[in-house]
Amino acid sequence: MTHYDVVIAGGGPAGSTVASLVKKYAPHLRVLVLEKAIFPRHHIGESMLAGATPILRETGAYDAVDKHGFIEKLGASFVWGKQREPWGFEFNQLISQLAAQGRTVSDTFVKAWQVRRDEYDHILLKHAAEMGAEVREGAHVHKPIIDNGRVVGVEFSDDGGRQTIESSLLMDCTGQDSLLGRAFDLRDYDENMNNYALYGYWKGAKWRFEYVGHPELSRIFIATTPRGWIWYIPVSPDVMSIGFVTHRSVLKDMDEGPEELYLEEIRNCPEIYGLLDKAELFRYFPDQKRDVVSIQDWSYTSRQMAGAGWAMCGDAAGFVDPILSSGAMLAQELGQKAAYTINSVFRSGDDAQITSYWDFYQDTYRTNLQAYRDMAAFWYSNNFTMETWWWQARRTLHADENRLNLSDGEAFTRVASGYANRTESLSLFGSYPIHEAQKLVDGLFGTAVSDADANAKYAGRKLNLHSSARMGSGMYYFQGMIRNTRRVIMPGTPRYLDLHPGEEILMRLVDGEHTLDDLNNAANEMLGMRARMPVRTGSELVVQLDEIGALVTT
Ligand SMILES: Cc1cc2nc3c(=O)[nH]c(=O)nc-3n(C[C@H](O)[C@H](O)[C@H](O)COP(=O)(O)OP(=O)(O)OC[C@H]3O[C@@H](n4cnc5c(N)ncnc54)[C@H](O)[C@@H]3O)c2cc1C
Repeated sequence: MTHYDVVIAGGGPAGSTVASLVKKYAPHLRVLVLEKAIFPRHHIGESMLAGATPILRETGAYDAVDKHGFIEKLGASFVWGKQREPWGFEFNQLISQLAAQGRTVSDTFVKAWQVRRDEYDHILLKHAAEMGAEVREGAHVHKPIIDNGRVVGVEFSDDGGRQTIESSLLMDCTGQDSLLGRAFDLRDYDENMNNYALYGYWKGAKWRFEYVGHPELSRIFIATTPRGWIWYIPVSPDVMSIGFVTHRSVLKDMDEGPEELYLEEIRNCPEIYGLLDKAELFRYFPDQKRDVVSIQDWSYTSRQMAGAGWAMCGDAAGFVDPILSSGAMLAQELGQKAAYTINSVFRSGDDAQITSYWDFYQDTYRTNLQAYRDMAAFWYSNNFTMETWWWQARRTLHADENRLNLSDGEAFTRVASGYANRTESLSLFGSYPIHEAQKLVDGLFGTAVSDADANAKYAGRKLNLHSSARMGSGMYYFQGMIRNTRRVIMPGTPRYLDLHPGEEILMRLVDGEHTLDDLNNAANEMLGMRARMPVRTGSELVVQLDEIGALVTT
């Protein structure tokens, strides 16, 4: 039987990202993608977040996506609840403060698109093949082959008939089909977020600037209706994707069919209905079987995301909700983490270490899903104004990272742009060239520590670690692999600080004898030696240690 190191079931954004990045960082591994459809194939999920764009840069697919001619997306507008005044955000709001200081950040961090997913996904899958993954379309995976509790391959069929193939690792990237989640019965559904979406495509729908911007720089527009909410997404200059999301019970209790409900609810939404007087519903995609498509939109998480010989990524591992347009971004962001994990796992011969790598992957996954789930749950459970949503964004983030000093508006924009979990922790640096990442951290995640402020507070004082602070170990994603790091932990609290490589040297100076000047001098020497390493300045380290409660000064 033919053997592959990694067999990826499903060639959507998750599968393509995993395939491209495994081949980038571990080109010696044999990677096979089995995709049941023949691409291009239609898919829902057209509005992208800026958080996915740095991953495209890393896979190398960025230029193909950028040049394709998709409608560029600047942000989002909402008309929510009783208050019918549109409001919204733009991805570059946080970056603009950097511009005001005369600094620049690559547009990679603020750029997104509204895409035809048949074309977007096809670009990513072709790119995975260019990176060296073997891609077979029209190859439907039926089930995993299990030997002694371990997944050792798959059974699939293509035009050559039914076949089997051996794998060292099976990545389930089958989206909502969730090959392994169903086979192993691992899905937990959220009853409160048991929704249905009905959607279609409209030719000749109007662009109203305050809702969707203009074809050069667009927004997704979201508006509430009596029974749910509607998305209004320009997927080309003359085609709008319009979708209605409602709780499953609404659909069940209706006498009318989904198409009548969809049209009635659009009529109930004056902001959107008013844009459709010359518009016509039509079938946009060759494989679109109905004018109004209905699709299940039920939030779930997999209790387990990795096991012996297998792992999951993308919608196969968990699905939140379309309200924040986070699905494709999460699939790519976590596809990157899966690829780093695979690279590390195949380099390790130690079972305990391999298990710890997959545990770290699962923890990372759950943290990401949870941030978006909290936001979506809050959205649905409240008839709120924008201030309260902003407030919730802040609460979600602050529960995770107490030390960030973000205003409400900044916190909201960060979640909604797709940077929810990229705190200044080390994992950030896995995604970006370091010099850009440092600027981004400054701009997005709070103002950089100022030397003057640090001096005013700490200069001349002896610095020491709090007696209960402990040194432990942590992991982070960095340049294609999982790496180990030293971590300062405050036991009994959720607070910790991961140290960048080499910063242990600075920590040795936090000994009750040395001062801020000593730390800054030592950090400067290190920066001179390793200009592109993410070493903090002495001031930054001291302020951050203080923020987690690990610093004592005398
Ligand atoms: C109503 C709705 C609206 C949404 N709107 C947005 C949005 O605006 N923005 C956004 O980012 N996300 C949105 N999403 C979510 C987004 O569509 C998904 O999160 C995203 O597509 C996940 O990517 P993936 O690669 O995990 O899965 P998919 O994109 O679903 O890819 C899975 C692939 O696996 C293949 N496959 C399945 N089973 C098998 C098998 N047995 N063998 C081989 N191949 C198989 C499929 O053909 C498919 O190509 C929305 C979702 C819904 C339900």
